[in-house]
Amino acid sequence: MALNFNFTEEQKMLEDSVYKWAVTWLEPQMEHAYELDVMPEGLFKETANLGINGIVFEEKYGGAAMGYVETLLAYETIARVSNALSMTVGASQTLCFDNFRRNATEKQKLDVLPKSCTGEYIGCLGITEPNAGSDAMSMATKAVKKGDKWIINGSKIFITNGPLADFMVFYAKTDPEKGPHGISTFMCYPKKQKGWSVEKIKKWGMRTSPTGLVTFEDMELPEEYLIGGLNKGVAVLTSGLCTERITLSGCTLGSMRSCLELSLKYSQERVQFGKPIASFQSIQEKLANMYCGYKASRWMAYSAAAYCDTLTNKSGGKGTDLDRMAAASLLYCGEVGTKIGLDAIQIHGGYGYCTEYGVTRHFLDQKLWEIGAGTSEIRRMIIARELMRDNFKSGM
Ligand SMILES: Cc1cc2nc3c(=O)[nH]c(=O)nc-3n(C[C@H](O)[C@H](O)[C@H](O)COP(=O)(O)OP(=O)(O)OC[C@H]3O[C@@H](n4cnc5c(N)ncnc54)[C@H](O)[C@@H]3O)c2cc1C
Repeated sequence: MALNFNFTEEQKMLEDSVYKWAVTWLEPQMEHAYELDVMPEGLFKETANLGINGIVFEEKYGGAAMGYVETLLAYETIARVSNALSMTVGASQTLCFDNFRRNATEKQKLDVLPKSCTGEYIGCLGITEPNAGSDAMSMATKAVKKGDKWIINGSKIFITNGPLADFMVFYAKTDPEKGPHGISTFMCYPKKQKGWSVEKIKKWGMRTSPTGLVTFEDMELPEEYLIGGLNKGVAVLTSGLCTERITLSGCTLGSMRSCLELSLKYSQERVQFGKPIASFQSIQEKLANMYCGYKASRWMAYSAAAYCDTLTNKSGGKGTDLDRMAAASLLYCGEVGTKIGLDAIQIHGGYGYCTEYGVTRHFLDQKLWEIGAGTSEIRRMIIARELMRDNFKSGM
């Protein structure tokens, strides 16, 4: 077994360039943008210039042909400044466009992917519905074939980037009698589409990342907008969730790292009882636990990403080791990240509770990662199911 915990020179360059951009372009705008709950204008053009948008796409589509380790590293690095905007970039590039890339025809990919790489198109993915969250397979959105068109009716809730999306991948029942085996995947262009509408949802955390309630009302789609095969939606959905859970673990890692760095600095500067608070053992305990939590989380996430990159189809889904590893990565990162966010606020005392140091913003964003992309409870169910499937014979 070759174990090498160092990033390559190329990976270090990626991290450096993304970090420099995040602190110079993103950071100065964050406090104000968060208060107003607006995404910084030009975000996707900026990430296009950094080469992040099509990071795993083949060069013929305008991508950088890198792997999921690099994607995770890019998302972690953006999240050192903004967990929310890292999620927004990930929702577009990994959840929507990468999922599309795995399932669309060559012509569709050549039409769409280059525009996602340049930042011209922003994407979103629609799984969740008002009455179908964890139980996503009970979705009510229906697609009915009429001649050579699909007629779509239904709604999708909590859709990241919904309010500004140019492109959407979503799931609908094409054969409701067949339950999960009657679900298919569709694509559409929201801004050009009659029968598509969106309402922005207000949130306490993940502000700057726009979230929407999308409604389809007799929306007509050409038949070729069904992607990945009729009634094959579940395989598309579950394999997409694996790469989503792994790469979006980066959102939590970035927040954890920032919380630790900010806490280290603050605790050595803040003097109480004539000493820096970092000299008190109960503060040191928190710092040590934050460090251990971050390091362990990093290992969970990067080992899953590295394993994914070794697979021929770089894909998971039900019945694969990657399914368990991906669920475990986001489960662990999500829960440890929330604890680290809380400790960071505690170390900063009253100042931490205010906006100046940004630790509360990291915490509010971070809490989402125990809910989004399948809740902690659902991830535990997946891990247990996959452990029992092969009694952990693979050891992965
Ligand atoms: C900011 C944000 C962004 C999001 N972005 C997207 C997006 O881009 N696209 C998208 O499709 N969705 C998105 N989501 C939706 C997200 O994936 C769902 O919120 C999540 O899957 C949980 O569904 P729910 O909110 O309906 O909760 P519910 O499913 O109603 O769950 C409520 C509680 O019950 C628990 N529970 C449910 N079933 C079980 C069970 N069998 N055993 C034990 N406990 C159970 C849950 O774990 C949870 O604690 C987003 C959500 C948010 C808040």
